[in-house]
Amino acid sequence: MADLKVAIAGAGGRMGAANIRAVHAAQGARLHAALSGIVVHAAFDRAGNGAIGQDAGVFAGLEPLGVLITDDIEAALRGADAIIDFTAPAASVALAERAAKGGLVHVIGTTGCTAEDDAAIRLAGANGARIVKAGNFSLGVNLLAGLVKQAAAVLGEDFDVEIVEMHHNRKVDAPSGTALMLGEAAARGRGIDLTARAVRGRDGITGARRKGDIGFASLRGGTVVGDHTVILAGEAERIELTHRADSRTIFANGAVRAALWAATQPAGFYDMADVLGF
Ligand code: NAD
Repeated sequence: MADLKVAIAGAGGRMGAANIRAVHAAQGARLHAALSGIVVHAAFDRAGNGAIGQDAGVFAGLEPLGVLITDDIEAALRGADAIIDFTAPAASVALAERAAKGGLVHVIGTTGCTAEDDAAIRLAGANGARIVKAGNFSLGVNLLAGLVKQAAAVLGEDFDVEIVEMHHNRKVDAPSGTALMLGEAAARGRGIDLTARAVRGRDGITGARRKGDIGFASLRGGTVVGDHTVILAGEAERIELTHRADSRTIFANGAVRAALWAATQPAGFYDMADVLGF
């Protein structure tokens, strides 16, 4: 038995630091029958990031790990079994192609990917990478997605579905990946195509709401880690299903769980529902 050797992509970012802490915290735990543990093997970010050259442990608020954050991606991936990647769409596409060449586990939390980005990432799964990609890695949100699918299926088109999300003021994409994941769950429950029925923000004289649409509203401010509410509004009643994230630890712990799970799966493209067995 050996450790799963993880390279942390975007190590200088908010989720990068959380992922360093989560992998380190899981290090000694006996989490997987086929593995003795999981270690921070390498940490990297793009050239010019302020964390380059720092010890990954110290950067993440831990004791020194003896792993320096580098901008040399190839050096970081040498000897690695897995990449935990919460970066940016172009970086995740390039890393998926690299993961395919090396048969690596690639856990992708990056949001804001286009349909073309997602197609390229899926192709990497068909070409040898073991990819787990999710708009949200927390157990709670994945459970919420199951509840939303069930509620949308039971209530049908008579209940309007609106999804409201709020995030910190540094977030660059909207709606959030989680909001889209919840919208997808509602669409699957209804048996409709989300891209054809999504209304992503309203402004001006929009006309009356079209029956069956799934609406999104995005709020930005402060340090909010991630709040999501799915509203199912009917004739004289309303159901609201809410998840609030208080810490990035929940995403990082989910990413670690996904990496350990994927280590024993054949090459392919998976999501968090596969990992959790939902
Ligand atoms: P951040 O800006 O703090 O960190 C991103 C890091 O990626 C930065 O350090 C940046 O320099 C680095 N990066 C960008 N391009 C790179 C490249 N080519 N090579 C290496 N590193 C590169 O952002 P964040 O808050 O940590 O979020 C990162 C991503 O994760 C966003 O897309 C966010 O929406 C997503 N996210 C997903 C989940 C989830 O559960 N799926 C949870 C939280 C955040």
